[in-house]
Amino acid sequence: MKILNFGSCNIDYVYSLDHIVVPGETLAARKREVFPGGKGLNQSVAAARAGAKVWHAGVIGRDGQLLRAVLEDSGADTRYLKEDDSPNGHAVIQVAANAQNSIFLFEGTNGMVTRQLIEEVLADFGPGDILLLQNEISNVPYLIRRGFEKGMKVVFNPAPFDESLKKLDLSRIHTMILNEVEAAGFFGTEDLDAILHRAADLQVRLVITLGKQGCVYVGDGLVLKCPAFRVEAVDTTAAGDTFTGYYVAGMARGLETGKLLRTCCAASALAVSAMGAAPSIPTADRVEAALNTLQPAREIPGVEAAVMAYCAAHLTDGSLAGLAESLGYSQGYTASLVKKHMGQTFGQLLQQQRCREAARLLRETDLPVESVIQAVGYRNQSFFRRAFAGLYGRTPLQFRKNILGGTEHDQ
Ligand code: ADP
Repeated sequence: MKILNFGSCNIDYVYSLDHIVVPGETLAARKREVFPGGKGLNQSVAAARAGAKVWHAGVIGRDGQLLRAVLEDSGADTRYLKEDDSPNGHAVIQVAANAQNSIFLFEGTNGMVTRQLIEEVLADFGPGDILLLQNEISNVPYLIRRGFEKGMKVVFNPAPFDESLKKLDLSRIHTMILNEVEAAGFFGTEDLDAILHRAADLQVRLVITLGKQGCVYVGDGLVLKCPAFRVEAVDTTAAGDTFTGYYVAGMARGLETGKLLRTCCAASALAVSAMGAAPSIPTADRVEAALNTLQPAREIPGVEAAVMAYCAAHLTDGSLAGLAESLGYSQGYTASLVKKHMGQTFGQLLQQQRCREAARLLRETDLPVESVIQAVGYRNQSFFRRAFAGLYGRTPLQFRKNILGGTEHDQ
């Protein structure tokens, strides 16, 4: 089973400026960087890094040699990538010192995919082969129709979404892979259950990616959910493209659906853990390893609740390392998460929890103060006394006396 991806290739020109240029202004850029992009290119890179044999078809400009090189370096075959004298599809991105950006896109050679080129390329493919498509090139409805007529399995990622896609005959599409925004555009509702019901009624096969919630598959009378893997997300660019590329690669290998979804979630989890688009797309060996080591993301009821529950359960042996392990994040990330959500360090929070427990024991038992201190896990008594006084404004002994005297209350 061969994979043909007829898709976009873009050049992203990123200019760093003091501020975004305003009408009538001329401003010198401090720096220009050039990055390969386009959903088509990213998905071919992902499928190739997944180990699949993938042919990338499309049109680039003479200025797009970098794109051909990126595709070939990843292992994709570019014999169907034509060249034209027109400028390549590109994005001009201004990035201001305050990180604001402004972008315009030029379709360029991505708009030059003609019916003649489509026929030429499809002539080399046949029944059972996969035709992967996105919505960034010209003649997409024609490609879907012709791929279907040839008996190819059309896998369509309707991105970016536009209203004209609603007119497509979905019965010609083998599988549609889309994110929540695209699914809402397609089905006119954000209600996931309603979308799944509608997809089942229409007998279309959908994979909806749900960001850090993972993905859901509906098709062949099945609804399968797969949670995302727990990672520290640093840049979500190309998450969906990595997922889609790995999906077609897994289809070509005949992976069963559950394993296929897990593989795609692991691949895209690795992609969001690294900066950039194409450079962040992992290779198959890393994904295989991640399947054995990454943990599925658990619903955390909220950072605050999770930290308080951990402190309560680990009053005497709690540590940042232990909390990090229970949340599935690195220690550094956990420390910054706690500080950001709760305004204090983990050490301060655990100490307060210990003091509260000590106050309860002083109130509800007649254990000597030394035993109370030991019971809440302090070996250094004077350290505890200072912490306690910091929270309650008096020493543990004064606290107990005041309670016994009935004049003061725990704050
Ligand atoms: P898109 O990039 O098209 O908007 P999503 O945001 O739905 O797509 O992400 C695609 C896939 O990437 C998800 O199904 C999930 O497996 C993975 N993913 C995205 N964000 C995260 C995250 N924060 N942590 C782990 N995996 C993620």
